[in-house]
Amino acid sequence: MAEAKKIGYGDLTGRVGVEEIRARGVDVDLLIKKLIANAAAEFSSTYYYYTILRMHLAGHEDYKEICEDARLEDRAHWELIVPRIYELGGELPNDLPAFHNGAGCAPAKLPSPPTAVNILTLLLESERCAIRSWSEICDLTFGKDPRTYDMAARILNEEIEHEAWFIELLAQERDHKTIPSGHFRRGEPGEAPYSKNRRFYNP
Ligand code: ZN
Ligand code: FE
Repeated sequence: MAEAKKIGYGDLTGRVGVEEIRARGVDVDLLIKKLIANAAAEFSSTYYYYTILRMHLAGHEDYKEICEDARLEDRAHWELIVPRIYELGGELPNDLPAFHNGAGCAPAKLPSPPTAVNILTLLLESERCAIRSWSEICDLTFGKDPRTYDMAARILNEEIEHEAWFIELLAQERDHKTIPSGHFRRGEPGEAPYSKNRRFYNP
């Protein structure tokens, strides 16, 4: 392990919390860049666009509720990860369009026509993008930056559940098949058991 850069007594120009992870091999600038891209994906690509998608699931109250859980949990992911960007010495772009355009996943825009099958397919593919992005953060930080790793792993836990939910719903809606996800409804919308450190369903 490389020596961590010494931060002088009372020196506010550096952070021990950053130098220690750099010394362990984390590319901090790259990590900040990817965290901002992931935060943008959570906030704009999913939380914002999922709002629109949920509105259009009219007539499918069960799908609406599950979309709502994914939507609110993605907002929880945004809230969980943003402070970490600042701790690492990064910051959010002071420009919403630039932030949106830098997202690590394509915007989950309302498909045309907005049928339940098309919406569920889009939701599924957005969750898959999120799994890839958060797995990447886990790889970058595993064994080197326990704090970011812990947050990314909590988020990843929920993204993996989201993928399973939408596989179950799409299989039923499109293929009239049963592919169980192990899902049972959250206690209340947006429960986010991992990222909000709440009890998860374990009867
Ligand atoms: Zn998420
Ligand atoms: Fe998600």
